[in-house]
Formats: sequence, C-alpha cells, structure tokens
Amino acid sequence: MQKIFSFILFCLFLASCSQSPAPDLLLINSNFFTADSLRPHVTAVAIQGERILAVGSDEEMKKLAGEKTEIIDLQGAFAMPGFIEGHGHFSGLGRSLQNLNLLNTKSWQEITGLVAEKAQTAQPGDWIEGRGWHQEKWTESPGTTVNGYPYHDALSAAAPNNPVVLYHASGHGLVANQKAMQLAGISRETSDPIGGRIVRDARGNPIGVFEENAMSLIEKPLADWQNRRSDAERQSAFDKTVQLASQECLAKGITSFQDAGSDFWEIAQYHRLAESGKLELRLWAMLSQPNAADLPKLADFPQVGLGNGYFTVRAVKAYLDGALGSYGAWLLAPYTDKPDSYGQNTTPVDNIATLAAACKQHGLQLCVHAIGDRANREVLDIFERVSPPSGGGAGSGVDAARWRIEHAQHLDPQDIPRFRQLGAIASFQAIHCTSDAPFVVKRLGTERARTGAYAWRSLLDSGAHLANGTDAPVEDVNPLPCLYASVTRKRADTGLGFFPEQKMTREEGLLSYTIWNAYAAFEEAEKGSLVPGKLADIVVLSKDLLHCAPEEILQAEVLKTIVGGKVRFDK
Ligand SMILES: [Zn+2]
Repeated sequence: MQKIFSFILFCLFLASCSQSPAPDLLLINSNFFTADSLRPHVTAVAIQGERILAVGSDEEMKKLAGEKTEIIDLQGAFAMPGFIEGHGHFSGLGRSLQNLNLLNTKSWQEITGLVAEKAQTAQPGDWIEGRGWHQEKWTESPGTTVNGYPYHDALSAAAPNNPVVLYHASGHGLVANQKAMQLAGISRETSDPIGGRIVRDARGNPIGVFEENAMSLIEKPLADWQNRRSDAERQSAFDKTVQLASQECLAKGITSFQDAGSDFWEIAQYHRLAESGKLELRLWAMLSQPNAADLPKLADFPQVGLGNGYFTVRAVKAYLDGALGSYGAWLLAPYTDKPDSYGQNTTPVDNIATLAAACKQHGLQLCVHAIGDRANREVLDIFERVSPPSGGGAGSGVDAARWRIEHAQHLDPQDIPRFRQLGAIASFQAIHCTSDAPFVVKRLGTERARTGAYAWRSLLDSGAHLANGTDAPVEDVNPLPCLYASVTRKRADTGLGFFPEQKMTREEGLLSYTIWNAYAAFEEAEKGSLVPGKLADIVVLSKDLLHCAPEEILQAEVLKTIVGGKVRFDK
C-alpha cells in the first residue's frame, strides 16, 4: 500500500516538474548552509523569479535547467540565507556615512581636530554632526572631566561659527559646543528634563554633555534647522541617506534590515521608495514610540509586504531606559562605580503599559528598549499584565504576538526563565558585549556581570527565542564581527574575553542572524532559510562560516549578495 502511495507521489512530483517552467537562475558548485534542519547542506539552489524553486545536488538542479536558465558556478564558495540585521537604525546608518564617524577615534583631541577640519569647509551656521565617541576608549586624557566626560571648550574653539553635536557611541548621550548650546538657550538655570541629565560641574555649569532625554534640548534647534528645508530638499536628502545605507548593507551581505524606530514621516518615505521599486533590500520597521496624541494613528498598521515584499511595518518601538556606558541603564541595585545612581527610567512605566494595550488592540508587536535589570523586569511585568501568554503559541497573548525586548542586556537571573514562559523575544546585539567588555564589570561588579550580562547561553538553554544584530550605527553594521562576538565573546582587537561560558555555538550564531531574526519579525515562512517557496535572499562568502577557525570569520569577504533572485552586490 505504502509503495503504491509512494509511486503516486512520485508521478505527481514528475507532473509538477514538467509543468513548472525552468528556473531563471541556478547557483551550483557551492557549499550551502540552508538553516533548514531537514536539509541543512546542499550544493545547488534553483531560483525562479524572486523565489527558491528547489535545493539539492548540482546534478539534481541541472536537470531542471532550461534554455534560458542562467547558471552561476560558485566554485565551492560557502553560501547561506542572506543576513537579516535584527536591530539597527537604517536612516541613522545612512546619516552616519555622511556625518563624522567617530567610532574609531582614540582621544578627545582627535575628535576636536576632525571637527576643526570639517568646520573649514562648512558654511557659517551649518550644523556639524558626528557620532560614535566613547570616553572609555580614549588613550589620552581629555583634561578636566566630569564623570569621565570632557568640557566643551576645545570643541567650541574648534568650530566657533558652527553648532556642533556629537553623539555618544551608545546613542544615549551627546556633546554639544557653545554655539549649539546658545541656539538651544542652555544656561546654568536650565533644569534637567524628566528622564535626562544636563551634565554639570561642581559649580552647576553645564559642561556640554547631555544624557538621555536632555539630548532633545540640543536636538530641537538642529531639527528646526533641518526643517527649514523644503519638502523636496528633505525628501531627496532622505533618499540619498537610504541609498548609502542600502549600499553599505548589501556590501556586507545583508538582505533584510529590521529598523528599530522610524517616525511617521520616515515610514511614509520608505513606503514611497518601496512602491516605486527603489528599495534594494527588505526593510521591516518599528514605528518610533508615538506620543499619546498619535496613538490613534496606530489603527493604520500593521502594513505588511508593501512594495512587493520590500517594506513591512508591524511593530512599535518604546524606550524604558538608557544605555550602560552613559549610566542610563535602569538597575535594580546602584551602579558599582556610581553608588548614588540606579540609572534612568526614560518613559514612565504607565505610558509603556498604555502603549502595550494599544499594540494589543491593533495586533502590533511591541518592542521595548530595556538594558538594565530593573528595566527588563518592568517590561516583562507589563507584557505579563497587559497581554498574558495564551499558552502553546495560539491566541493573542504576548507569546503569539511575539513581543520583543530590545537589547535585554542585563538581566536578573530570576527573570531569565520568564522570556520562555511569556514567549517574549530577547533581541540582543552580540557585538555590544565585546564592545562594552572593558567597562561592564566597572559598572555592575563581577557577580552581576557574570550572572546576568549578555546572558545568551542561559536564555537559549531556558528555551527562549533570540534575535541578533548590531544596533548600527551604534556599531558597524557588518554581521561578521558580531558573529565572531556571538561565538567567542572575545574582542577582535585586544582579545579581551567576557564570560565565555555564555557563548553560542557556530550553528546558533548563523541561525541567530537568519531564521531566528525572521521569526522575531513573523517572517519565517518567507525568509531566513533556503527552502523551496521562500524568497531567494542569499549571501555568498569566501570562508565557510560553519567550520572555519574563529578568527577567519573576521577575514571572510562577501562575494555576492542576492535579493529576490537578483545579484545586488558582486565583488
Ligand atoms: Zn537601537
């Protein structure tokens, strides 16, 4: 009976093969990791239009070829599903490529030098923007400091006629020069806004550094300056930004990007670009935390698969605290190196709960930024209260809604099993672990760092869903250093390690950048593994990321990036 059944299936298979047209593209002679546990390794993939038609051996796939099938011989190279960036800032990435990039600067002197250089060609009154400085990475003293931060004086002297704003690498603080503070009307009388701090010296004078919500004081005149542009100027500047970010991502093997917070205007621009076929990789965006007046606008969402599957908005981003480096992470117990501080709660818990109820009402994923253990506990409590798990993944509970905690960076060990229990997704950035390694123990002390900081292994072992990413432009958007951090927990430059017992296996690392991120966006049926019927989003690399030595991950080169069956980057 079973034989007859098998025979009928075989006939059906032949019939369907003879009916379906030949593939447009065959990728052969490769070493594919498919991220599909049923068939993890194949040598060839057949693509028809935007999608994968079949996977298998070279011989099997060649049989499908027709007269017009293009065949690309990958000469044994390693290939896998295109990388999915799980948490980044797409327009921020584009802007960072236009503004001063301070990620690799080693001193305050170097930074003010770069600003002075930029000021020479800037029109008086134009803002100079930069991002990526980190006082913990400086090898030279910046002179007098407050909490390790420099005074603005050298920056003000470097650009006396231009307002300057330089964002901290974490994105949770900035330093401004005199001109910018003047435009913002900052004086010693200006009081700290809720959830933010104007850093002051012992005499109460602002030193130029603004943390968390205090950043908006400086951002206001910057936004005014930007908004003086016409709609057309603003739109074309945005398109340029998107183009730069796209090129950067495609060159690094990224075929989908999960944007962690765009406002309604930006969402409209992405929508326009997607509908006109101008997005070169797939974007999945979270709406930036809407204010109370904008909550009714959530009724227009989710918007899924716009522009032929290139743009989706089905999530909302919210912020509960700041970052660890700038003492903004909201902790259960005080900072070890700042015993008077528990960090910053940047949005009242009740406001997040209100937003959670709105997300539940409209069927949106809620993605809450939480770094400190207090912030993470509060978010888990909100998830549990507003949208209790429905059990077994069905219904409308937090588990079925796939609500996410963005960063989930420092957890109290008691809260680790709650991710699995609630079905909440821990969306972390492995590269933050090694970037932050030099100061985490200073901030948290050894015991808290060991048991709860970047605790991927503990989360995985508890059965939680994870997502991985870089938080670009906070970090380089390149997935390879992040993958290296995921599987080694070692810094690439100094070799400094951070509690290696929490590292991922090599396979988990690759899954975390493909199918796990697809799951975290409700897109696992469309992408994230190489399976017939899914989108043909593929990256080809010069090293076998599953088997090469760990250090070789860093040397791997992206050879091709394929989105929807089209080669979008070719080395
Ligand atoms: Zn972010």
